[in-house]
Amino acid sequence: MEIYEGQAVFGGIAIGKIRYRYNPDLLGYPYSVSDVKQELVRYENAKELAIQQLTEQYQNALSEGDAEAAAFQRQIRLLEEPGFSQAIESMVSTEKVTVSYAVTTTRDEMTSTFAALEDEVVVNRIQDIREIAGRLTYILNGLSREKDTLEEPVIVAAEKLSPSEVMELDKSKVLGFVTQGGSPLSHTAIHVRAMEVPVLIHIPVHAKWEGRICVIDGSAGKIYLDPDADVLDEYRRRQEKEQKEREYLQSLKDEEDITADGHRVHLYANIGELEDLDNALENGARGIGLLRSEFQYLGRETYPREKELFLAYQQVAQTMGEELAVIRTLDIGTDKKADYMGLSLELNPAMGNRGVRFCLQRKKMFKEQLRAIYRASVYGNLAVMYPMVTSVEEIHEIQEVVNEVKESLREREIPYREIQQGIVVETPAAVLMAREMARELDFLSIGTNDLTQYTLAMDRQNPQLKDRYKENHPAIMKMIRMVVREGHREGCWVGICGELAADTGLTAEFLRIGVDMLSVGPASILPIRKKIRELKLNLPAPEGQAAHHK
Ligand code: PEP
Ligand code: MG
Repeated sequence: MEIYEGQAVFGGIAIGKIRYRYNPDLLGYPYSVSDVKQELVRYENAKELAIQQLTEQYQNALSEGDAEAAAFQRQIRLLEEPGFSQAIESMVSTEKVTVSYAVTTTRDEMTSTFAALEDEVVVNRIQDIREIAGRLTYILNGLSREKDTLEEPVIVAAEKLSPSEVMELDKSKVLGFVTQGGSPLSHTAIHVRAMEVPVLIHIPVHAKWEGRICVIDGSAGKIYLDPDADVLDEYRRRQEKEQKEREYLQSLKDEEDITADGHRVHLYANIGELEDLDNALENGARGIGLLRSEFQYLGRETYPREKELFLAYQQVAQTMGEELAVIRTLDIGTDKKADYMGLSLELNPAMGNRGVRFCLQRKKMFKEQLRAIYRASVYGNLAVMYPMVTSVEEIHEIQEVVNEVKESLREREIPYREIQQGIVVETPAAVLMAREMARELDFLSIGTNDLTQYTLAMDRQNPQLKDRYKENHPAIMKMIRMVVREGHREGCWVGICGELAADTGLTAEFLRIGVDMLSVGPASILPIRKKIRELKLNLPAPEGQAAHHK
């Protein structure tokens, strides 16, 4: 039996076999090859198979009258033309590197120059190159592009996992995660927490763990590899106990979020993928306080189309019915990467071209998302909020785009509803300008994850800072008080959607401050509900609570 200690990102116990996940970053590594000829044959074969797959997809799309058919045809042509293939072959021959590396590098060289252009022909060309490069890489490395089909429930072990890789897993089969890298506030961590399985980071994961039995003790931050019989027995007992506690919490699913002395708060869920929606409802969420819409843009080779976005938002709106669902517009950047967008390399991406500032540069893409949101608005009670806002001027710029989108819908006689507008307050500038911003908006939602990193000037993903990084730093608590006060003065409701909202040690404080809404990962809802119902705030009779909730 081997024991390793790491840092817990989500508690609980898991017992199962390890499934080691290969790090796909390594595929595009500049490994040198000695047999160039053989490498070129590998490319020829992969190219042939790619053309064969694309031809099949083209024929299927054609028979179903699908608009994608044209894209498949373009991609076949691109593979058959000399340009793309010659670039790859010449790199393999002259630099003696693997085809995988040559494919990735050629893709980047051919797409980076024009990545920021929004011209349709260029956008299509770039997307086609990315699609083909992705397809070839998967073929060359014998991988499947389908969701990772796990045959049995397993503990996933990996050196590092990106949010997109998590999306590729069949979640019903994942018992827990152990990774070497990572941080509790990375988007991968936030995303896997929604799965309610134990997650440990900073564990020295190794490929030879594949198939071995492992126990994760999330609360103690430990794993036992090849556990002995006593350890197994002990953890099986504890697992049963945990199950009983979960059953008790489930009994609170339909209870209201009111303190023992009558103060109400609105307890909503943060979700990423649509699959989280069921999870949120099963955990008794009364609304969606944050839909991290970027997940629909990750783990793929091309932009999602307006229709695809619309269908997703429509599903959220219909599922939630009368209950509020807040869609945050695309917040790509830092750890949420989508290669096909051609984001330029930045020295300091957390402070880079991300959030709404990126969307305001890529207006075509931004408008497509807004159109999808507004089209879906008639199916339920949607609201929209914008990430990383730093000034009132930015809000005006956003309003201009929103007005253009509404105008275009009116012209096309597509119905929409006026929906609430808000921002994620996650920059110190937004905190200091909360009052001026609130005048333009219906609500403010405090994003403590980014707000903490920008206020403390500490990278939220840097494991070296984990002992100093405090989301409940007095400066953050002071900022929350200020945003609630200023927001209320201008008639806005104010919520918290950062991870700090899930800290049950602060629930009483948040309610005393007057926070109207707490939006947390689905797994945190019931423990907070339990806390709220036990609380007595001893405050004057409740008044002035969030307008939208009345
Ligand atoms: C935040 O920054 O607190 C937030 C809610 O957004 P994200 O974690 O997606 O950056
Ligand atoms: Mg944020």
